[in-house]
Amino acid sequence: MAKLQIRKLGDEVLRKTCRPVDAITPRIHTLLDDMTETMRAADGCGLAAPQVGILRRIVVIEVEPGVVYELINPRIVAFSGEQEGQEGCLSVPGRWGITRRPQHVTVEALDRHGNTIQVTGHDLLAKAFCHELDHLDGKLYIDCAISMNED
Ligand code: ZN
Repeated sequence: MAKLQIRKLGDEVLRKTCRPVDAITPRIHTLLDDMTETMRAADGCGLAAPQVGILRRIVVIEVEPGVVYELINPRIVAFSGEQEGQEGCLSVPGRWGITRRPQHVTVEALDRHGNTIQVTGHDLLAKAFCHELDHLDGKLYIDCAISMNED
């Protein structure tokens, strides 16, 4: 595994739309492993491929230590409720904001074996789904934050 460089606000790669993964190759497995290592090393709870310069629809999320979601070509298929709270991003260091997100979010995606999976997240996991999937369309939480703060 290898730690990858996290792209920061101002890098135009963060503003691009990612392409779907059409074949889950060993390279994709390596990317998933490297993204998880990179996320953990940076003490984050989610990382999207464009944050490491790869314009593919892939995210990893670890809200609960040891429970990693690897989502390929993810899309939100249901959401409900509302939550308001703090949000930050490894690509926007030293700042955090207040956002409004759905409280329950169901995502459909492929896992690393190409199986279609559905995962429903609540609270922090629901927020992470929204945040990471937004990255795949070039969107950052600072675009929709109600307020922004410095550390
Ligand atoms: Zn982010």
